[in-house]
Amino acid sequence: MEAENNLLLLLQNPHLSAGLKDIAQKVLNGERITFDEGVLLYEQGELGYLGVLANYIREKRHGNNTYFNRNFHIEPTNLCVYDCKFCSYSRLLKQKSEGWEYTMDEMLAMVYKYDNEPVTEVHIVGGVLPQYDVAFYSELFSKIREHRPELHIKALTPVEYHYIFKKAKIDYATGMKLMYDAGLGSIPGGGAEIFHPEVRDLISKDKCTGDQWLAIHEEWHKLGARSNATMLYGHIEKFWHRVDHMDRLRNLQDKTGGFQTFIPLKFRNQDNQMSHVPESTVVEDLRNYAIARIYLDNFDHIKAYWAMISRTTAQLSLNFGVDDIDGTLDDTTKIYSMAGAEEQHPGMSTKQLVELIKHVGRHPIERDTLYNVVTDYNNFEFPEEVKPQFYKLPVIN
Ligand code: SF4
Repeated sequence: MEAENNLLLLLQNPHLSAGLKDIAQKVLNGERITFDEGVLLYEQGELGYLGVLANYIREKRHGNNTYFNRNFHIEPTNLCVYDCKFCSYSRLLKQKSEGWEYTMDEMLAMVYKYDNEPVTEVHIVGGVLPQYDVAFYSELFSKIREHRPELHIKALTPVEYHYIFKKAKIDYATGMKLMYDAGLGSIPGGGAEIFHPEVRDLISKDKCTGDQWLAIHEEWHKLGARSNATMLYGHIEKFWHRVDHMDRLRNLQDKTGGFQTFIPLKFRNQDNQMSHVPESTVVEDLRNYAIARIYLDNFDHIKAYWAMISRTTAQLSLNFGVDDIDGTLDDTTKIYSMAGAEEQHPGMSTKQLVELIKHVGRHPIERDTLYNVVTDYNNFEFPEEVKPQFYKLPVIN
């Protein structure tokens, strides 16, 4: 109600330009905005204005509900045959001494470590190396599935899939069906970067193209399965490249309906080949979340990775269209910390995540990967922590 009142008030603002007023009216009417209007939002939309629009949509869809999940990551390797300019994570083969390459047994041991933990998802993503091929990943997924059938496997991006399917000389449809049969639950959103070749060719030339990325998700959706999408923003792209990126996602979503969540990823400039490019400001990050919420009218969720943008910005983002702040992580990913994120050992207990969400007046809900509610934490009382016991010792005079 308050969100709607704010939007109605904003529409009465005599200083609002005609273009921005039209967009606000469309948001109130539940109408889709055009490509040019998306660009106009980036060029002229001030933070307060965008926040009112995005929060209206967010609360209409989800009220105060704010989602997170309990997951852990496995990163098979940080060595990679590719050489993306923004990547702080990959250690090329020539820097092999700084790299790791986990074996099948090592990765399975990581899964077994969580046997008695209430995690619902394992997120597997890393560099691209020849030994991690179709046979390897099929076996890995099958073994995880066999060991713990209810654990959702969210794994690999089209960057890996394109590479391993090409090597195996199979088409995307055949390859995705193989992965599905092996136990893959969903595809995370990575590897999307910026789809437009004008930017993609400069920052990550050799890996799958934007069209190939979309084609792999399309095949996956045809199997009735779900996936996420990201956008790496705040480097050399122009505003219209961001809109073009979201437009391609919006079009595919119209066709398949298979995407669940859009995740804007902030470019971080530590220790990569684009360190000279300044990072976006927090204001720009929030504007970007808000515009994504407004533009992607057929996406259910907008997610912010708290480990990447910091806990306080994640809290702020909940007023700018974001309704999901990802998972507990348990310090199992190095992707953000190696890129210069403030969180060098990302991990939060469920209680900490719940408090983080409650502190800004939102309603924490633990979800599984497919957004089924696992626990509603609104009125949940955490058990008292067990305090160490002290005993009186006899006093010897
Ligand atoms: S972004 Fe991914 S594909 Fe590119 S170099 Fe890094 S690990 Fe490899």
